[in-house]
Amino acid sequence: MKKSAADIREDLKAHVDFLTEAGAGFVLRQPGVESGGAARATGAAGAEPDGSAASALPSLASRPAQTAAERAALEEIDRQVLVCKLCVLHKFRTQAVPGEGNRSAELMFIGEGPGRDEDLQGRPFVGRAGQLLRKIIAAMTFREDEVYITNMVKCRPPENRVPHHEEIESCLPYLLRQIELIRPRVIVTLGKTPTDYFVPGREGMTARRGRFGDHRGIPVMPTFHPSYLVRNEGNRELKRMVWEDMQKVMALLGRK
Ligand code: URA
Ligand code: SF4
Repeated sequence: MKKSAADIREDLKAHVDFLTEAGAGFVLRQPGVESGGAARATGAAGAEPDGSAASALPSLASRPAQTAAERAALEEIDRQVLVCKLCVLHKFRTQAVPGEGNRSAELMFIGEGPGRDEDLQGRPFVGRAGQLLRKIIAAMTFREDEVYITNMVKCRPPENRVPHHEEIESCLPYLLRQIELIRPRVIVTLGKTPTDYFVPGREGMTARRGRFGDHRGIPVMPTFHPSYLVRNEGNRELKRMVWEDMQKVMALLGRK
């Protein structure tokens, strides 16, 4: 898909906005003016110390070309999700939200579940948190139609509560099959709900973020959920951490 100049400007703006908000330190770095966030982010960007981080990253799983049957299977999953009644969440939904984006994406984002806007529109991550996620994607130099975005549960939990274990279990086969068919090279889990499944651990997100886990040979990067960043709007440190995590993902995908 060819992009218009306006689209490119929009992406670039989102890119710069997010980097600026993340304190990524490429703007206005005056000599002698100490900016903690900027200094650390520059270090984390890996110009310096750790070439070791890259070599310690997990090897990439093989990625045979997707077949027509696999593409059809992905479309079939969407159709099944839209009419699914496997768990109680179907009772509360306006529309199920199977996911969207490139069905052979190298990069896949997994959130928790649709919120109000997503439930109304039938698309993942279109509310406030979604706008921030889409900024992050642009900052990573990806177009939205190059990545795939979905959730642990495909129907909105009432009052946006955390999905229950049984609901996640019921919905999981859809997601696992989506991953199998899309075969992303990297998965990013947004917040605790998807991270608990893909990179389980006792510690909180602050301790678990930033280190790759593994799902069937696919590296999985846990990071904070964008709604957590939205709720803590003034906290640059959180954005900086997310950006640091995304840079590891970019490095793995050769986007640095
Ligand atoms: N939060 C999520 O976890 N997923 C969405 O799709 C939107 C908000
Ligand atoms: Fe089906 Fe998943 Fe929706 Fe539950 S959340 S009804 S399992 S699509």
